[in-house]
Amino acid sequence: MNYKSKQDFLDNVHSKFSNEKEFLQAVEEVIGSIWDTVQQSQDYLDGNILDRIITPERVIIFRVPWLDDNGSVHVNLGYRIQFNSAIGPYKGGLRFHPTVNLGVLKFLAFEQIFKNSLTGLNLGGGKGGSDFDPKGKSDNEIMKFCQSFMTELSRHIGHNTDVPAGDIGVGGREIGFMFGQYKRIRNEFTGVLTGKKTDWGGSLIRPEATGYGTVYFVEEMLKTRNESISGKVATISGSGNVAQFACEKLIQLGAKPVTLSDSSGYIYDPEGITSEKLEFVKKLKENSSARISEYAKKYNVDFIEGKTPWEVKCDIALPCATQNELNEDDAKALTENGCFVVAEGANMPSTTEAVEHFIEEKILFGPGKAANAGGVAVSGIEMSQNSTRMPLSSEEVDNLLKGIMTRIHTTCVQYGDKGDFINYVDGANIGGFVRVADSMIDQGIV
Ligand code: NDP
Repeated sequence: MNYKSKQDFLDNVHSKFSNEKEFLQAVEEVIGSIWDTVQQSQDYLDGNILDRIITPERVIIFRVPWLDDNGSVHVNLGYRIQFNSAIGPYKGGLRFHPTVNLGVLKFLAFEQIFKNSLTGLNLGGGKGGSDFDPKGKSDNEIMKFCQSFMTELSRHIGHNTDVPAGDIGVGGREIGFMFGQYKRIRNEFTGVLTGKKTDWGGSLIRPEATGYGTVYFVEEMLKTRNESISGKVATISGSGNVAQFACEKLIQLGAKPVTLSDSSGYIYDPEGITSEKLEFVKKLKENSSARISEYAKKYNVDFIEGKTPWEVKCDIALPCATQNELNEDDAKALTENGCFVVAEGANMPSTTEAVEHFIEEKILFGPGKAANAGGVAVSGIEMSQNSTRMPLSSEEVDNLLKGIMTRIHTTCVQYGDKGDFINYVDGANIGGFVRVADSMIDQGIV
């Protein structure tokens, strides 16, 4: 179908998916970047690439019944969105969080298509999860939930079909329980999940990869202005997997991270979060119910309840918690306070208006699909190690990760260079899109 204009296309998408607001937000951003590229290609127009790329190949929704420690029966919804397999098996994390719904997972799976393409690896786009809340649950309850979830999911995934990983609420423990159940049902030991523990097929550096990769991407952005990370003050939101390892790499490279947060508020440590203090956070957050406010008590610093850290003066801001956690007012506060680098460790943490502000101000803004692609890149490397049954050393994986983040940056510059500044949003969207779209055209109308 040919659309009269970009607005005509977007109106059609809105009318179809009006109740999926995060998905609409993600589609609007991508279409804003790729529209002209599509109009200039007769193959893309003839192949109706736009309608096809915004439509998932498959959406699976299922019941997840489980028993709590008191013997009461609970039911959650389970999802897997198999969005696009043009360049490889579906790949993307599983999120366990009460805010999970179809619109959130479709936005995450849609973003994942372009992110995975940018890595240069053969990975399609997918995402899944459940509205299950792991907070306050016993290990036994978590195991029972994971087993029930995998009992259904196992019919739809496989190491050459769809390879899920972790995300919010899904770490090494949950991946272990799900891997065990998959192996039991299918009687096969394959790399069907990534983010595994290293004793049974996981890759070294996978836990670190998203946070480290985000900071490697920041390094590349800073190089375009002859700057480096050393000596810069950084604010970070979140205190989970991505936030912890972004903080670790910043410390290693001589920056001063001053904040971490969770859904209750943020801590501000003007002296800087040191390696020793970060170890405290890692231990603390092994318990998913633990609160970051404990840091403030232990180190006698401020805990600012119910707020996000974007009011704190910094050079670099790394949103690493969740979607839409940084709005237009936050964006303005950041740039007014001198912040000139924002890299998204989380997926779509900045609202549309916040992104527009960063672009207007021409700061170095690295969107999630580029800046946080290190996690899925190392997941791809984990899949290779599982296929060859040959593990790599930490140093080897870290070097591969650095190389991939540098190449992603180069792709963003190739497609996003506007002369006086680099629009990394356009760069990442167009760079990720072209490879997938060309592959879809090659493979016919499927
Ligand atoms: P974790 O579960 O390890 O940590 C999530 C952190 O974000 C916690 O501090 C949590 O606080 C906070 N958070 C979650 N939801 C909210 C909310 N609604 N409001 C405020 N804070 C919130 O998850 P990850 O670190 O793995 O993921 C963080 C982000 O990074 C997500 O956007 C994810 O999609 C993205 N990402 C993750 C990758 C990975 O490899 N893990 C790869 C690429 C992107 P609390 O404990 O209070 O809930």
